[in-house]
Amino acid sequence: MRNHPRIAIAIAVSLLLLGILYVWRRSSSVVEVNSGYRMVMGTFSRVVVIARGEKTAQRCIEAAFEVQDRIESLMSDYQDDSELSKVNREAATRPVAVSEMTFEVLQKAVYFNKLSDGAFDVTVGPLVDLWRKAGEAGEPPTEEALAQARRRVGSDKLILDEKNRTVRFAVEGMRLDLGAIGKGYAADKSMEAMKKHGAIGGMAAIAGDIRCFGRPPRGQEYWRIGLQDPNVAPNDLGPSKPLLVLALTNEGVSTSGDYRRFVKIQGPKVSHIVDPHTGKGASKLASDTIIAPDATLSDALSTAVNVLGLEKGLALIERLPATAAILIPAEPGASLVYSRGARAFVVTTQEALGLPRE
Ligand code: AMP
Ligand code: MG
Repeated sequence: MRNHPRIAIAIAVSLLLLGILYVWRRSSSVVEVNSGYRMVMGTFSRVVVIARGEKTAQRCIEAAFEVQDRIESLMSDYQDDSELSKVNREAATRPVAVSEMTFEVLQKAVYFNKLSDGAFDVTVGPLVDLWRKAGEAGEPPTEEALAQARRRVGSDKLILDEKNRTVRFAVEGMRLDLGAIGKGYAADKSMEAMKKHGAIGGMAAIAGDIRCFGRPPRGQEYWRIGLQDPNVAPNDLGPSKPLLVLALTNEGVSTSGDYRRFVKIQGPKVSHIVDPHTGKGASKLASDTIIAPDATLSDALSTAVNVLGLEKGLALIERLPATAAILIPAEPGASLVYSRGARAFVVTTQEALGLPRE
């Protein structure tokens, strides 16, 4: 009889401990949270986080979108008060000081310009503007207008002062356009932010620029990224059967092409990607997808390869370590072209059936 209070206390303590254990397990068990789509940089952005505990996962998602919003407010050329717009307004008259992030992107952009023999060029702004206006007017630009715009394009005319972190234009009328690198950079920075807030895995997808890292979703060995068929791509983001599926671990992947964004001037589509050497719309590839160690690189390279076309584009990718490409030539019915390392990333039918990778 005298033992009863002791037994009751022991049971109560055990129950309490079990309760604590249950709450602790719940809050520290690995969860997967998908943010759903949000609008960033004028397009759709989505983040997936793998973390211990719901709260940590939510913090990671908010941190990722915060950094994306910050990058947009610095590098958007649609916002008049962005840092980039200020540079575009003032850098022809004086050196303009910029943030670490903008400067980092510009330094990388100049490096990618050299790497791609000038195919990637963030100074293409005057040409992009010219073609946008031509699309609105329904008339192609005159040769004279093209020549004039081309005189204001060229990364050699972009003066970056590392010590003072300033940007200066050598020629009046220059205009920077970070549309081909900003989203990949933002995906990379989102990953850093998620890691900092405790993510053990994650993915940031901003339109066609994706970065993934760490532990993939439950039950999967890899991050699976579907590649859309440019010939049947819908104009919305509704589900469509992917052309193929990529299996990634810690990479950036980007797709460039004219199937979503282009202008139509008296007939054929004119891509939103401009060949800086000719001043005209890139037309050699329907689309190209690049896998690289990070998304800043995959973003810049996908635009560069779209300009370079099949042979030169493949040659560039084969030269670079840990980089792969899947190209779709512009001719209707053309089959996919893979760089040497690309097939290793493609999910085989065997895997789709749940069997191990070969
Ligand atoms: P992306 O979708 O990453 O290939 O980027 C395309 C966007 O980058 C275009 O909409 C332009 O704003 C800009 N752009 C166009 N041509 C080039 C080029 N040759 N190099 C760098 N940026 C470009
Ligand atoms: Mg790009």
